[in-house]
This record gives sequence, C-alpha cells and structure tokens, in this order.
Amino acid sequence: MDDNRKRSIAILGSTGSIGTQALEVIEEHSDKFEVYALTANNNADLLISQARKFNPEFVVIANENKYAQVKEALADLPIKVYAGADALADVVQAEPIDIVLASMVGYAGLRPTMNAIRAGKAIALANKESLVIAGDIVMERARIAGTPIIPVDSEHSAIFQSLQGCQGKNQIKRLILTASGGPFFGKSREELSKVTLSQALKHPNWSMGAKITIDSATMMNKGLELIEAAWLFGMKAADIDILVHRQSIIHSLVEYVDNSVIAQLGVPDMRIPIQYALTYPDRFESPVKQLDLAEAAILTFEKPDYETFTCINLCRRAIEQGGLFPAAVNAANEKANELFREGKIGFLDIPKAVEAAFDCVKAVSDYTLEDVFETDIAVRKATERLFI
Ligand code: MG
Repeated sequence: MDDNRKRSIAILGSTGSIGTQALEVIEEHSDKFEVYALTANNNADLLISQARKFNPEFVVIANENKYAQVKEALADLPIKVYAGADALADVVQAEPIDIVLASMVGYAGLRPTMNAIRAGKAIALANKESLVIAGDIVMERARIAGTPIIPVDSEHSAIFQSLQGCQGKNQIKRLILTASGGPFFGKSREELSKVTLSQALKHPNWSMGAKITIDSATMMNKGLELIEAAWLFGMKAADIDILVHRQSIIHSLVEYVDNSVIAQLGVPDMRIPIQYALTYPDRFESPVKQLDLAEAAILTFEKPDYETFTCINLCRRAIEQGGLFPAAVNAANEKANELFREGKIGFLDIPKAVEAAFDCVKAVSDYTLEDVFETDIAVRKATERLFI
C-alpha cells in the first residue's frame, strides 16, 4: 500500500461496540485514515452524528424505515445516503476503499463480507459468524481474490501477531485460545439454571455488545472462536486448545514444534486488535493503557469446565463433522441468544438449542452459500419451535 496516501476505510456496523471503538482509533490517527463509508443496522441517531463528524462519502442504514430521518439530517452535507441490505452489500465494493472493517453482528455479516472479498478489499474481520457458517467458502474466495483477512477478534489477533515470522504451517504444533470464563465461571449447572439476563450481561473484563456478552456467559463464544481459528489459520480443531485465563491479559498463544510458545499480551481493550488490523503490518502509538505486569501480579490458568459449559464441545463437534453443522449450531445459538435476551427462555435453554441443531441437518461433503442460507433459516425456525 502507498504509505503517503491515507487508507480509506468502510466500517460495516459503525454504531456497534467494535465500530465505535474503530472510529476512536481512526480519530486518533486521522493523518493515516479516512472514513469512506459508514453503515448501521438500526441506530440512526448515532449514525448521523458519526457521519457529521467523519464526513464519509456514503452512509447506509439497513433499516429502510429510518432512511428519511438519516437523509434529512445529513441534507446539508455532500454525503450520499442509502438504505437496505442491498445497498449495504453494494457499497463495500466502491473503488476507493482499501479496507472493509466487517463488524456487524451475526449471520447478516456474511453477504457484505463476501462482496468486499470479491471486490478485492482487505478485510478486517470482527464478524466471526461469517467464518463460522461458511469458513471454507470465505477463505477460498479470499485466496482466489488475493485479499488478506486480518482478524479483529482479540484471540485471533493475538495468534495472528504470534505467527508473524512463522515460516510455514509445519512449524506450528497447536494454537491455544485463552478464555476469560465469563461471568459464570465456577458455577454449577444447578446455579446456571437460575441466572438472570442482567447477571449474564455483566462481563468481568471486556466491554462488548449484548449478543457476544451472552455468548461469553454460555462460553459459546469460545466454541465459535475455535471454529473461526480453524478456518482462519487452516488448523484442525484437534490442534486448537482452550485455556481459561481469568485476567484476560494473555490474549492467545501459539505453540511451535520445538515447544517454544509465543503469546501476545496487553490490557483487555479492543482498540489494540482493531488498530493492528487497520495498520498491519505497521504499528503506531495507541491511546490504550500500557500493560503493567507488576500491577497485574498474578496470572492464572486452568482447564475449562466442559461438563457445565457444553457449548464449547458442541462447536468442536460441529467443526469436526464439518459441512453445514457449524452453520446449524450458529443459527440455533443466534436464535436462542435472542430469545434469552427477550426473556422468553432460560439460560440453559441456549446450550439445549445448540445441541438440538445437530438433528436439523444432514452430513454433506459439499455445499454452497445457498445451502448455508437455507440451513440458517430452517434451524432458526426449529429453534423457535423447540420453546414456543
Ligand atoms: Mg474474542
């Protein structure tokens, strides 16, 4: 990339937790980046204020009912305003864009991410679900298009950083994903059956959106990350381990064949992996607090409680069975997570739904994106029928 030119960024999901933190990073380095497009699902007010501040070429609001509000509020500026999922999928292909930050939540991130790959954009990937549900298709298309996929997820960024200088996959023995354990670490299934939504939303270390915070409480998030890591780094699930590390300082590790282990550390702040994904292979100063290991004093490690937090091994089983199973467990989880946040089901109904997803799909050796979309719809419906 030409170093004298600013990198032009499109942020998909600019009003979410990752999107707003990405804009903080960009504001800090306004000499290096410019915002070309901002897109949001529903939060028109925040999208408007972001657009007025960062002056992009385009904004897209996915919810078409909010188009008039956004258009009117930006009428005095030369910003083009669009609405709907099609506009969102189109805007990522605009010629001046260098990097697309895919930071929308869930399954909806897949289509625009695929379009950005097809248009040859570098992808800073925060939307883990698109790799979970169609990882081999996404990675294959990126390989054909010659576009890098740079992880934003903190664990995957840590692995990506720990792999810099690695001379080939035959040097890697295993990947170790760290997990904070979430707010319910140490609880029994009996205790988990009674936890409330507000307890589940209190993550001990990370500030994140509601969907992923619930995924952390069930530890489904770690299962999804295992699938994400398998695709991203071309590793077998059997060579990816999970390690509970309550302090969230070591963000993940790579063990090499000589038993040397390389890790990335830092305070738990998403602005580090976001910034690295946007500046890679460069590094710049960051507003994030320095890591003071003497202050942290104690770092602890233990095995996950797989019996209580069953979602991790359900995800492991899904990636090992392959085909449409990862898409099925993801769809069941997205639906159950939503039902839990709406107060319609209990906490342990989430792993129950994820387990039931295995009965919704058949083993296939080959599949298309269409099959993934159909699986998603069918499993969401089946999940709803399970409870309502
Ligand atoms: Mg993560």
